Amino acid sequence: MSYRLDTLAIHAGQPDDETTGAVSFPIYQTSTFRQTEPGINRGYCYARTGHPTRRALEENLASLEGAQHGVAFASGMAAIHGVLSLLRAGDHVISTRDLYGGAWRIFTKYFAKFGVEFTFIDPGDPFTIAGAIRPETKLLWLETPSNPLLKITDIAACAAIARRAGVRTVVDNTFATPLLQHPLALGADLVLHSTTKYINGHSDVLGGVVITNDDALAADLHFYQNAIGAVPGPQDCFLILRGTKTLSLRVQKHCDNAERIVEYLERHDAVSRVFYPGLATHEGHAVARRQMERFGAVVSFELDTTLEETRAFTRHLKLWTLAESLGSVRSLFCHPATMTHASVEPEVRKSVGISDGLIRLSVGLEDVRDLIDDLEQALSVTRIPARSAEA
Ligand SMILES: *Cc1c(COP(=O)(O)O)cnc(C)c1O
Repeated sequence: MSYRLDTLAIHAGQPDDETTGAVSFPIYQTSTFRQTEPGINRGYCYARTGHPTRRALEENLASLEGAQHGVAFASGMAAIHGVLSLLRAGDHVISTRDLYGGAWRIFTKYFAKFGVEFTFIDPGDPFTIAGAIRPETKLLWLETPSNPLLKITDIAACAAIARRAGVRTVVDNTFATPLLQHPLALGADLVLHSTTKYINGHSDVLGGVVITNDDALAADLHFYQNAIGAVPGPQDCFLILRGTKTLSLRVQKHCDNAERIVEYLERHDAVSRVFYPGLATHEGHAVARRQMERFGAVVSFELDTTLEETRAFTRHLKLWTLAESLGSVRSLFCHPATMTHASVEPEVRKSVGISDGLIRLSVGLEDVRDLIDDLEQALSVTRIPARSAEA
């Protein structure tokens, strides 16, 4: 019997505990497991290699992406490291310019050191991928919607081009969640999440996961997961599993709130641009409508302000919390140029369109009227040069 997503989120990977009947899957807080004879065990030998709470989480998350295999890591970055570990010196990766800052950093400042080469393209046109593919190209790395400008990449078109050239496609699905976008169904080979974000959803744990239907890739990923050891402990796995149970409810309300805030920002004089794939004017809107169920709850907007004026605005917000990260029940906001993307060189930042006046919102689950009221008071007390009436 195959269950639907909301049912899987609550049940998959978590049978009732055989010894006690506990309905909540237990935290097996142990580092090692007794072997009945040397080399003979009950499926677990050492907690880095695997433990029951992690296995429950891996099965649960895989099921949400409609997949066979999930490989959990201690953070989203550890998951990214796990995927890149599939490569060797001389291999080539194609990715997009508008990318999570930490991904950019590990590509250009860590894996590049070991001889892996990266080419960054504009995600707007899938055909630029075909031109960037070389004989050594092994991976196409997509992030859609992207961070922080919410650019949309056509997963099906890109994955088809990659597949014809024997290149594997990985999609960082953190912003969309398994609820809103299904990369494997669109032709991707691997899906990655920072479970720190929506999947856990409560700003209280770090985690990452890689999901695939490819048995050989899964075996390699499990090998690197164990060999490198950036693995989540039982308590962290438990918390993330608790998060998935309400993921569907949370994501719908996140989207409801985000849509109201986009409407508000669109009408505000001091806001020069709103970035949200749900807007008909967004350049990726048509593709987003095709490949997403809804458009998520990260919203970026631009103020026509200097760095100093933008900083003043961030001081005036009271209910919104100035913090890195996203996907929490609690509304967060950040200033990408000095926070999440500070590790990206200023010229690169400028070339991808991350201006000093850019603010990224992660819309939480508070009453949206309170969130809007807070934006309103902060915008009204910040000295923002009004756009000229004739503009
Ligand atoms: C946060 C994030 C990551 C990194 O995850 P951590 O859990 O912080 O290590 C990777 N990709 C995206 C899109 C993210 O938002």
